Amino acid sequence: MSARGKLFIISGPSGSGKSTLIRQIIKDLEGFEKSVSVTTRPPRKNEAHGKQYYFLSDGQFKKMADNGELLEWAPYAGYLYGTPLKFVMDRLSSGINVILEIEVQGAMKVMETMDDAYSVFIATTTPKELKERLLKRGTDGMEDIENRIRIALRELQFKKYYDCIIVNNNYNEALANLKEVLLMQKGG
Ligand code: 5GP
Repeated sequence: MSARGKLFIISGPSGSGKSTLIRQIIKDLEGFEKSVSVTTRPPRKNEAHGKQYYFLSDGQFKKMADNGELLEWAPYAGYLYGTPLKFVMDRLSSGINVILEIEVQGAMKVMETMDDAYSVFIATTTPKELKERLLKRGTDGMEDIENRIRIALRELQFKKYYDCIIVNNNYNEALANLKEVLLMQKGG
């Protein structure tokens, strides 16, 4: 592959279904990869180091940030999350389209620094539905869920800064819409 890959930012509140959509996209679309972030959050059940995230100590994270090894980073629900710069740049220069699944503050930074990035916001219908989804998922404690809902309400105010908004009411429709947008925007 010779052409440079396209950088995509995908954000959306916790429980919006963005991770499930992105996992399917990576399976279905050739030439797309998801960047694996670094985080200070402890792993959940079924999460493995290097797969969903690189799980780092505060010190390790800070060192990466200080050394300029992160494209962006931001705090979220008491922990730090960041995108390794080298992974993204290497993939883009080998023609791979890279998806960043990141929260809104990090997304704003990437929009500033990488002006050809295309951004998509995955929205849900109501906070009530978000809460139900987070409870059903069962990966976070009650206090964390309440906190994530508060953050979600704040995050919704950022959706106007994104190039495209996809409402995930119906999974199959949202998946089809997201695929269409990614394929159309990647060009080539
Ligand atoms: P979770 O703890 O549910 O895996 O992720 C919490 C939030 O952090 C989600 O909105 C997720 O998209 C976001 N996130 C994951 N990786 C990164 C990253 O590298 N940078 C930023 N800014 N946010 C991230």
